Amino acid sequence: MTALLFREDAYLRDCEAEVVGVDERGIRLDRTVFYPQGGGQPGDSGKLRLGDGRSLVIADTRKGDGVEEVLHIPAPGAFLPSVGDTVTAAIDWDRRYRLMRMHTCLHLVCAVVPGAVTGGQIADGKGRLDFDVPGDALDKAAITARLNALIAADHPAVPRWIGDEELAARPELVRTMSVKPPTGQGRVRIIDIPGVDLQPCGGTHLARTGEIGPVEVTKIENKGRQNRRIVIAFAGGG
Ligand SMILES: [Zn+2]
Repeated sequence: MTALLFREDAYLRDCEAEVVGVDERGIRLDRTVFYPQGGGQPGDSGKLRLGDGRSLVIADTRKGDGVEEVLHIPAPGAFLPSVGDTVTAAIDWDRRYRLMRMHTCLHLVCAVVPGAVTGGQIADGKGRLDFDVPGDALDKAAITARLNALIAADHPAVPRWIGDEELAARPELVRTMSVKPPTGQGRVRIIDIPGVDLQPCGGTHLARTGEIGPVEVTKIENKGRQNRRIVIAFAGGG
């Protein structure tokens, strides 16, 4: 078990942690700010700094066997810490913040585009969502304008937990779902952008939509009779 500090505060850039496991799969800590790849969001990269001044580069972060096990994957050739070492775990914040901006933007895309989400991916500086929408109903300029209006309105994005039973009893809570929420743990994490979008999501998000900054729909691809892929990038490359 790893305490997932990014879940309660996505803006944490580093934390003190103890190394609790090291093997060929990766380094496990008792607590971490590193987000493991999941839900279309890439895993964090960053550094682990030891008390003696040495540091090693973490190239990627993945989920381990358990729901709350996080594997910090060292860059090739990096030295490995020992179990019991105290480290400062620091993510590459500039990259993560861009991922948070794009991730939060994709929630707005769900609110703007009608139709079920069939897939999605977040990358550094761009993102995409696939929708089950027939025909040529989607317009690049119109979606871009509506997204930028929701961004400029600076809506709050609020994470909270609801019980499995409440989610099952109130399916209207879930407007869009790219993946079934992970039930069976007693509770599901919800991201609420009040009046705009509400969906289960375990990723990292901004506190307010205004931080996303201007975006544009760069293309809408036809990926089959019923499948349209909407590709988003930050306007001006920012
Ligand atoms: Zn999300």
